[in-house]
Amino acid sequence: MSANRPVQFGPTYYCWVCGAPAAGIIDFSTAMGGPTVLDKYASYIGYLDLPVECRRNRHPARVARLGAAITPLHFPERCSVEEKAQAIRDAVEYLASLGIHEETLAHRIARIVHLVRVGAIEPDRAVNELCNLAGIQPVSVPVFSEVDHVPVPVLW
Ligand SMILES: [Zn+2]
Repeated sequence: MSANRPVQFGPTYYCWVCGAPAAGIIDFSTAMGGPTVLDKYASYIGYLDLPVECRRNRHPARVARLGAAITPLHFPERCSVEEKAQAIRDAVEYLASLGIHEETLAHRIARIVHLVRVGAIEPDRAVNELCNLAGIQPVSVPVFSEVDHVPVPVLW
């Protein structure tokens, strides 16, 4: 296990190389689009959703994740499945050694609310993600009209 890996603590993330803001983390299973030999580690692997310029310049996107914390996950060229699994275990062990825990459902909900608050994601996307967490089919978001401003009476 190598010491002093770079770590980012979400909920907002940045490119390790150039610092460009990432749009979030793409789940391993979404990124792979089908079963892989690493599926049992899927919840500990993700990909930074980097801007086009980063992808064009091959800035590394693969990360190991634990809770909201991430660290780069590098697989040596032509390495075996076991070497990949070991790289994942080393990275996650490192994150755990920093005292980081799995994200609870409450953490995930709070993260989505935070991302809306800072303008990182649209409310519609937040509703979809919250529905996914709740295991219910996302619906179209109702439009709430602004409440008319009622002036506060001055008492003296
Ligand atoms: Zn970049």
